[in-house]
Amino acid sequence: MVTPARRQYLDLKEQYPDALLFFQIGDFYETFDDDAKIVARDAEVHLTSKDFGRAGRVPLAGVPLRALDTYLRKLLAKGHRVAVCEQVSEAGHGLVERAITRIITPGTLIEPQLLRERENTYLAAVNIGRGEAALAYVDVSTGEFAVTPLRGPERDAALAAELGRLGPAEILVSREAPALPNGRTGTVRDRAPFDGEDGAAALRAHFGVASLEGYGCQDLPLACGAAAAILDYLREYNPRLLGGLRGLSTYHTDDFMALDAQTRRNLELMRSGRGGPGGRGLLGVIDRSETAGGGRLLRRWLSQPLLDLAALGARHDAVAELLAASALRAESRVLLDRVGDLERLTGRAIAGTIGPRELHGLRATLAIVPELRERLAPLVSPLTVTLRERLDPCAEASELVGRAIAGANEGRRIQPGYDAELDGLIDGIREARTWIADLERRERERTKIKSLKVGYNKIFGYYLEITNPNLPLTPPDYIRKQTLTSCERFITPELKEFEARIADAEGQINSVEDAIYARVLGELAVQAPRLLATAAALAQLDVLATFAEVAERQGYVRPQLDQGRGLHIMAGRHPTVEAAVERHTFIPNDIALDADEFDGDGAIMLLTGPNMAGKSTYLRQIALIVLLAQIGAFVPAQSARIGIADRIFTRVGAQDDLAAGQSTFMVEMLETAAILHHATARSLIVLDEIGRGTGTLDGLAIARAVIEDIHDRLGARCLFATHYHELLALLDALPRLRACNVTVREDADGIVFLHRIAPGGAARSYGIHVARLAGLPRAVTERAALLLRDLEANAVPLRQIAEEAGGYALTPPPAAPPSTAPQPPEAVSPPTPIPAPMLVPAPPLAPTLVPMPPSARMADIENAILDEIAALDLVDTTPLEAINLLFGVQQRLRARQTAEAQVQEAAEKYTLPDASAH
Ligand code: ADP
Ligand code: MG
Repeated sequence: MVTPARRQYLDLKEQYPDALLFFQIGDFYETFDDDAKIVARDAEVHLTSKDFGRAGRVPLAGVPLRALDTYLRKLLAKGHRVAVCEQVSEAGHGLVERAITRIITPGTLIEPQLLRERENTYLAAVNIGRGEAALAYVDVSTGEFAVTPLRGPERDAALAAELGRLGPAEILVSREAPALPNGRTGTVRDRAPFDGEDGAAALRAHFGVASLEGYGCQDLPLACGAAAAILDYLREYNPRLLGGLRGLSTYHTDDFMALDAQTRRNLELMRSGRGGPGGRGLLGVIDRSETAGGGRLLRRWLSQPLLDLAALGARHDAVAELLAASALRAESRVLLDRVGDLERLTGRAIAGTIGPRELHGLRATLAIVPELRERLAPLVSPLTVTLRERLDPCAEASELVGRAIAGANEGRRIQPGYDAELDGLIDGIREARTWIADLERRERERTKIKSLKVGYNKIFGYYLEITNPNLPLTPPDYIRKQTLTSCERFITPELKEFEARIADAEGQINSVEDAIYARVLGELAVQAPRLLATAAALAQLDVLATFAEVAERQGYVRPQLDQGRGLHIMAGRHPTVEAAVERHTFIPNDIALDADEFDGDGAIMLLTGPNMAGKSTYLRQIALIVLLAQIGAFVPAQSARIGIADRIFTRVGAQDDLAAGQSTFMVEMLETAAILHHATARSLIVLDEIGRGTGTLDGLAIARAVIEDIHDRLGARCLFATHYHELLALLDALPRLRACNVTVREDADGIVFLHRIAPGGAARSYGIHVARLAGLPRAVTERAALLLRDLEANAVPLRQIAEEAGGYALTPPPAAPPSTAPQPPEAVSPPTPIPAPMLVPAPPLAPTLVPMPPSARMADIENAILDEIAALDLVDTTPLEAINLLFGVQQRLRARQTAEAQVQEAAEKYTLPDASAH
């Protein structure tokens, strides 16, 4: 036996077993049993228990009604669904009636307070069939509903990339094929709705069409199944959202530049793990949009670069025009700043969840549209003209809201004069209200009781109150209702009659108002396509104006795009690193690659240079410039001529992640394999230290084989940064390979990073300098420098490699004069094209250092160490191993010192150097 309340709870819970049930009890939503434990854990709510009589105590976690959204946000972020159950009858007599009034799932939100303004929230469905797949997704807050087939050998990669691009809050999968890329878990659904045939029928029924041809998915059963699975899910959890799905667009992933998840992450498009100012990533640096819709569109453009020269040309023309028209742009942006989120407002109007105040917000936004049109009138580029023409002030919608919907402070939702029936009802009780309002004055006169009062409470309704001293004056028609200490309360039959009349009418007014309000929203929904078209045009204009604004403020230029396979950038900059470093301290760099070999530039750049020189920055900067160009933005450079890239791949070798250990090398190789499989001759491949995650010889061999494959088979443009200057030997064998290095200047105190890319390879890896930066004792690094000089003098294999590569100087040059003052970095290179490989002489070595004064025993240790070092095969030694080796040397030297406690003054030499020692 359970209590009636418990039974009610269990019955409701049974309807949606997969959702957390928020059960209203007075001012709280309570959750019970396992739900309570989940809520306590994931929403950080205190867990207690509640006694259900004979059913015993059950776990309980409750949240106040007012704070619902705060807890919902936490639970949705953890992927939970929530069913909100409200009291639908007045409390008081017996069991309160309750009903589930809404179900909230992470992927089906339209509540503005639960959504991120400038980001879409997607619900996706993945349909996997034999040898092919399809993906559908919807943003129910904006009505964006799209589907794509995924076919051929690329389908898994394309699916992973699309899921990476969209970052859906929820993914529906069928019970038969629940597996998703990258170990993501989906919401498992029955197989039935995913079926292609039935799916197509469900879509036709939803859109009320005889054929799906207009949506482009008539011959794509898996795609229809995926889209239908979304409809099915919405029907179950939130049917009123179905109305917002007004159309479906079919797209193909190869219409856009493919960016896999690793590339997105490496390029830090949306957010940055490091580097970018405030962790903002590229988006943070270029998002100067004024509207929420513009912010969302910019994200979409950034994750879907275009391949179509004409479309890109149109965007660039528009940006150029807006850049030139700076006053017009400024005024337009002021107007855009006042624009509300038309897309989401429309969505909520269709779903019926929009309030009167927001409807007026929508109207205020529409009122800005004609002004904006006028402001944009002088623009002539085809895209701006088209967008301007699409700015529809939607006069009908605006007029309807103005006529029908009451202003915020009028107490009612519907404007007086809009509906005769409603006005009649309101008039009808106006008389009764005045009668009650006047009752106190009338009764005081009649009874001569000056203190007589008319009051109202929830239990008795209206009453007349007489204080004890005046009770003898109470008229006979008063009926006593309640006795308090100092007074008594009465009613009269007449008062109760008027009261009932008001109550009846109020109820009626409310339902009539509801009906009228719904009708108005229905009429608005008819205007939705126009509203949404205007919203889309506003968003595009906002983004184009943003590109122009960024170009002006940050000094970006229009890139020239063509169908070739060249890549020529003068004085390019890294957009986020540039924004993070002090103004004007970023060193711009050029690049000239051409896979078509029209002008003799190579197709692959082999970039060498010491740690921290700027290799990774340079690589990403090139990729980001290409990406910016292909979303229609201007680029951080002095000039850029870019052959459209069908894909950008970036990979960072495992060396940057030493702590992660062996498995990262596997990951690195898997990723590299994926590039070699998926890249085409039109791709841009950016490889940063690939092959570093394994032993030197393997790594070198792998790196070399990868370069050869890209060179001989793919013919793609490629940037390859490496520590292996041995790879320079490839220059002879591979005619389209070019060497560049990031220059450093060396002086007595170490190296100065110039961050400048120069033709030719770096002949040395500056391991000792890095060791010094890492804090190795000065005596050790000095000693190592000395040893290295000897080694280099006899480094036959290295010298051979270098000579094969075209005559790098590796012989120890004369010692440079020791300089104590840091030298100023060289001036920024003028933007001249990079010539064919031209080798630079190796920089001078550090000056000769004084050998340490050895005691006899120290000399023994030294000799042993020297022998070991002499026996080393440096070709087979990674910088990490070199550092480890130096640590080993240091360890032995120190151990010896302390053990013998022999030379007190020598000990001082081996303590960690202070800052001045660097
Ligand atoms: P590497 O990959 O060669 O080890 P990074 O590209 O990581 O070097 O660069 C190291 C740091 O040098 C960056 O964090 C940045 O602050 C600075 N840097 C790199 N390139 C430039 C540049 N062109 N101008 C100014 N600073 C730069
Ligand atoms: Mg690096």
